[in-house]
Amino acid sequence: MDQGGRSAGEPAVTIDQIAAGLRELGLDRASTVLVHSSLSAFGHVDGGAEAVAGALVDVCGTVVVPADTWDATGLPAPPGLERPWNAYWNAATWAEHDEAVDRAAAFAPDLPVDREMGAVPEAVRLGHPHLRTTHPLKGFVATGERAADVVGVQTLDDPLAPIDAVAEAGGDVLLLGVGHTSSTTIHLAEQRLGRGRFHRYAKVGPGAWAELPNIPGESHRFDELEPALRPRTREVRVGRARLRRTSVADVLGAARAAVVADPLALLCDDAGCRCAAAWHGQEPVAPTG
Ligand SMILES: [Zn+2]
Repeated sequence: MDQGGRSAGEPAVTIDQIAAGLRELGLDRASTVLVHSSLSAFGHVDGGAEAVAGALVDVCGTVVVPADTWDATGLPAPPGLERPWNAYWNAATWAEHDEAVDRAAAFAPDLPVDREMGAVPEAVRLGHPHLRTTHPLKGFVATGERAADVVGVQTLDDPLAPIDAVAEAGGDVLLLGVGHTSSTTIHLAEQRLGRGRFHRYAKVGPGAWAELPNIPGESHRFDELEPALRPRTREVRVGRARLRRTSVADVLGAARAAVVADPLALLCDDAGCRCAAAWHGQEPVAPTG
């Protein structure tokens, strides 16, 4: 989805236009941004994902991108291990599980970022000095002066902690051509509200696997936060893409308000999806705090 198709007669988007768009959003060297992006949403970008990554790193002091590695490291649950409302599948036999472990790669800092994150995070990783978390599934890459603060707070049982660090830096969620369904910050709000979360499994060394807790659920209905966030969002258009900037604090606040008002908010009612499992695993939501 991220090759950046060109339509007839449409001029290519340049790195300078992307940088200008970011500055128009008020971003500068003091900014810390958590970026979710789709290269193809821009139309054709001259220089591709490297140009988007270059504009981000040029304009913003600290750039954080998701750097998940499920494609390489992810495993089924082992046979017989049951977790309530975990919405996942078990290998049928230990032989099947062993095969999956053999096929997977153990987490390593040079693993590519999952394609689902789009092409930009991988371009940040390959093209710019950065620090990377070591969680075997839910990773982040950060460049710039606050990179150590952001990456350093993650633990195996608190994979979304880097987003807290972005919030503490007064940072923003930056959506480049994607919707709120890509916004992991809303998952952090759900976790703080006690909404059910999941155990997942990854290869962590030769023949070795681990169970990782506190993995977030689905985001099918996160775009329903748009009306609440719109007054707190700055937006520009570059090429065909909407670029939206909202503070992490505002995203957390809007998600919290939605779930306090309706404990089923932001969850779809498909009984087969992780939304339902998150609901069943949810603790009562406290209206304060
Ligand atoms: Zn769902």
